[in-house]
Amino acid sequence: TQAEIGLIGLGTMGAALALNIAEKGHRIAVWNRTGSVTTEFHATAGALAANVVPTQTLAELVQAIREPRAIILMVPAGQAVDDQIAALRPLMGKDDLIIDAGNANFHDTQRRSAEAEAAGVPFVGMGVSGGEEGARHGPAIMGGGPKAAWDRVAPVMEAISAKYQGIPCATWMGPAGAGHFVKTVHNGIEYADMQMIAEVYGIMRDGLGLDAQAIAGVFESWNQGPLRSYLVEISGKVARAVDPDSGAAMLDVILDSAGQKGTGRWTAIEAQHLGTPVPVIEAAVGARNVSSRLAERKAGEARFGAGPQKVDGLTQTDLEQALMAGKILCYAQGFTMLAAASETFGWGVPLPEAAKVWREGCIIRSDMLGDMAEALTQDDKRNLIFAPAFAAHLEKTHNALRRVVAAAALGGHAAPALSAGLAWFDAMRTARGTANMIQAQRDFFGAHGFERVDGGAGKHGPWAM
Ligand code: NDP
Repeated sequence: TQAEIGLIGLGTMGAALALNIAEKGHRIAVWNRTGSVTTEFHATAGALAANVVPTQTLAELVQAIREPRAIILMVPAGQAVDDQIAALRPLMGKDDLIIDAGNANFHDTQRRSAEAEAAGVPFVGMGVSGGEEGARHGPAIMGGGPKAAWDRVAPVMEAISAKYQGIPCATWMGPAGAGHFVKTVHNGIEYADMQMIAEVYGIMRDGLGLDAQAIAGVFESWNQGPLRSYLVEISGKVARAVDPDSGAAMLDVILDSAGQKGTGRWTAIEAQHLGTPVPVIEAAVGARNVSSRLAERKAGEARFGAGPQKVDGLTQTDLEQALMAGKILCYAQGFTMLAAASETFGWGVPLPEAAKVWREGCIIRSDMLGDMAEALTQDDKRNLIFAPAFAAHLEKTHNALRRVVAAAALGGHAAPALSAGLAWFDAMRTARGTANMIQAQRDFFGAHGFERVDGGAGKHGPWAM
């Protein structure tokens, strides 16, 4: 019998996704650039091999799938996707659907969608989160493209996705580009979540003098409370782990220089284009860039002092609450960015659905996202910091964030993401800010004009040149 769906690219994610699809009872045809990978994949699929059709040419792949076809691409984002589409289209029919499931930049997805639309063929860009484990057993899936095209594959996507209390974490986020955009913002938030956790880890390690095992205990206890989340959970696990070679804590033998593939950076770049503030995410992206400048940081420590110092008077509860506050502020910024993009591009992204799709399967999954989905369902126009539940949280926790940021600053600990969150919060609770000075300066040197607080005329100042 013919396969229901096809997949190209049996790398880490593609192989896991294909097994997941086969396991849910959907017959899948697969093809990989390096043919031996396909043979090996089929040979090691065990009982699931019965649901897998291995193919050695693209033509064979296409023939193996029943019409109207749907083929998932799981290859590196960029040129590889364009090349695959170019190779595949001539072999496919008008109604056959290509789904790019890699981490595409949404601008590329918009371009590919426009090309597909011009050719009268369907194309879906789909963000998949959850890493290899998620892809194998239930990722979060964010679809974008023509709704009718998404609806055709939705049953398979829902079947393979993670479930939150039985609800599939696979949702259509809007037209061309919207799915990959939501995935991009997810990754930006992921960078920020990870960075804030790293910052409190640093304060525990260098400021409170806790060893990795003690820090593991703190994360484990936080994972029982309101911070319960995948990232806090794995932070406890990595802090707990011991290097089999040296017997030292695993964390203590890992170089403090972080890599990135670019999706966090895209979030910061798009936020700037949209003019929507995401300072916590920007700080997290910046911190990864700083981290990679290891030699300079070593020279800096030699020149300017002995690195982060012990801090006094901070409790673990302060750190827990600071992380809570930072997280709320960061997510509030992220959802505001989604709303801004949705408005700018006319997507109509269902914000509560974005929060819901992130509740399970993806890297930023957490208990808090359940509450955020609820708050956004009540009112998706309101900034999350004003949703009653989160406003109450912030009231309770922002002073702890303030104490942590102040202690970090005095002790010489870099805490850029938490600091950025606090600065944004303080700006957001200041009705009379300082941009009057900016306006006056702009008017002074550029005659840009300004508005008056009394609403009166007077568009230029009496500046003495
Ligand atoms: P891998 O490097 O593990 O696999 C890449 C796959 O793409 C291989 O099957 C490879 O085939 C194939 N490939 C590479 N270049 C080409 C090309 N030019 N033409 C055709 N096929 C090609 O990557 P991942 O599975 O990790 O990532 C795939 C996509 O999923 C990326 O866009 C990534 O950003 C995204 N993603 C990854 C996540 C992760 O945790 N790893 C999480 C979420 C998304 P061959 O065997 O011939 O080399």
